[in-house]
Amino acid sequence: MAEKIGVLGGTFDPVHHGHLAAAADVRHALGLDRVLLVVAGDPWQKRGRVEASARDRLALTEVAVVGIDGVEASAVEVDRAGASVTADTLESLGAPDRDLYLVLGADAVANMGSWRRLEDTKALATVVVVERAGDLDVHPPGEGWRYVHVRIPRLDISSTDLRARLHAGRPVDGLVPPAVVAEIHARGLYTGGR
Ligand code: ATP
Ligand code: MG
Repeated sequence: MAEKIGVLGGTFDPVHHGHLAAAADVRHALGLDRVLLVVAGDPWQKRGRVEASARDRLALTEVAVVGIDGVEASAVEVDRAGASVTADTLESLGAPDRDLYLVLGADAVANMGSWRRLEDTKALATVVVVERAGDLDVHPPGEGWRYVHVRIPRLDISSTDLRARLHAGRPVDGLVPPAVVAEIHARGLYTGGR
């Protein structure tokens, strides 16, 4: 039987419990073998707004997934030079005996129109739209997509808010795993006022 792999891409600047809960819920709902948190190496749509280096964001994601069954950090985009393009990533993760599931929040789905190689993406994975209470009913743009919706709880956590908290010296405990808090401090990330 084909191995079913979920792919949840993001900047993860830093990773948080919203990402982790979504990954675990999608894995359970669709019976996936594994869900990979794919850390964007060069998120070209966010240039200038990404704070931590790709290596630091990957390290935080690696400690975040420890102890979460079937959820893993992936370095494929960090290890590859150049802009992070989803179709390239899916091609590098693909194999004849693998079914890929591309996991996207409603905000990410709404932005798909701007993706590079969007047409190529259709054949490479089934899109999983994670739907949080209050989200608009979104689906991938145009025809020919395979996609499913999975309901997940709304956790009102964003990396943007976490960065602001850290710069202001406010706690992020409870919003990210304790190991991530420790790793942020050990690496001296998100310090100082902005
Ligand atoms: P930023 O505030 O910097 O944009 P973010 O918290 O939105 O960061 P991203 O790395 O941009 O995190 O998101 C990666 C993926 O995770 C996207 O598909 C996004 O929709 C999803 N996501 C982000 N926050 C949550 C959350 N609280 N619950 C579920 N999914 C989330
Ligand atoms: Mg975001």
